[in-house]
Amino acid sequence: AEEGTPPSESLRDEYEQLADLVRKYRYAYYQEDAPTVSDAEFDELYRRLEEIEALHPELVSNDSPTQEVGGEVSAAFTAVAHLQRMYSLDDVFSLEELEAWVRKAESSVARLGDSVPPIAWLTELKIDGLAVNLLYRDGKLVRAATRGDGTTGEDITHNVLTIKEIPRQLSGSGYPSEVEIRGEVFIPSKAFVEFNEALVAAGKAPLANPRNAAAGSLRQKDPAETAKRPLSMFVHGIGAREGLNAMSQSETYKLLADWGLPVSPYFKVLDSFEGVLEFIAHYGEHRHDLLHEIDGIVVKIDDFATQRALGYTSRVPRWAAAYKYPPEEVHTKLLDILVNV
Ligand code: NAD
Repeated sequence: AEEGTPPSESLRDEYEQLADLVRKYRYAYYQEDAPTVSDAEFDELYRRLEEIEALHPELVSNDSPTQEVGGEVSAAFTAVAHLQRMYSLDDVFSLEELEAWVRKAESSVARLGDSVPPIAWLTELKIDGLAVNLLYRDGKLVRAATRGDGTTGEDITHNVLTIKEIPRQLSGSGYPSEVEIRGEVFIPSKAFVEFNEALVAAGKAPLANPRNAAAGSLRQKDPAETAKRPLSMFVHGIGAREGLNAMSQSETYKLLADWGLPVSPYFKVLDSFEGVLEFIAHYGEHRHDLLHEIDGIVVKIDDFATQRALGYTSRVPRWAAAYKYPPEEVHTKLLDILVNV
């Protein structure tokens, strides 16, 4: 199909079928914590959907899967509105695509002139877990919620209170009167293996993978069940912030750590794309020596003024991107064996 010409009947059909399939897979992944296809398969379908939409923007509607953050609020939980929206991330699947993304971001920033500093890339691991939003008022944890559709999430406060890394009360002083802290809840790789060994020894079925195990554990009705699961958390973002004095995200991480929040030990602030490439190569090699599973690397423009100037699309920030490592065959096979024990 050529850009500008109306989509053929068969392309329209393919598009509708793809959109339905993506919705169905998202439902299994987000609502049931039990995906029916691999992430790589899902990403490929999603990519194709984006491709068709790029050729035929007239097909895009408000309820297109590309226009929304995946995940609805289950009726089993109380719905809560986030003070500030939560977003997804723009995905890239090759180093060439990442470079194109970086160059585009650089020209957008160049257009901002001297009002912003030169780009520093806050480069982090993309933790394969569940996004959670923590709301602190006067230093006290008052609410925790899943991302949901980005605007409204599920209230999981009681379950989050069972995670020892998450402080009920922020320490020190100088924390804002109201602040939303975003991060990823995950099951550490070693704890996951041990937990599964114990399940198998007790004659029970092991959990399929750490990501869905973490999501399923956190979305339990009974916090006592959640408390039995080895959940942990790293924080990687900030939403509403009343009176926070920080110029950049990395500066904020220092504050978060001072307040007792679990900041990842793995991030780096890099001033060049070459540095980012080295980071990617390093963690590609050491992917399985880490505390948790990763599915990629996230690069963010560190400076808050630049983040504000670039803003967001309906689904993702324009100042960050996620590079996804190629899927790992061997690893998947190992997991299949484990599931079939
Ligand atoms: P995403 O996972 O690609 O990226 C956004 C999320 O990354 C954020 O919400 C955040 O919680 C998380 N994240 C982890 N580390 C981060 C860091 N350091 N900084 C910032 N954010 C970080 O996007 P998505 O919309 O949540 O979901 C898409 C993902 O889910 C894809 O990987 C896709 O393969 C998978 N998925 C799979 C299926 C399936 O059926 N297998 C279905 C739906 C989605």
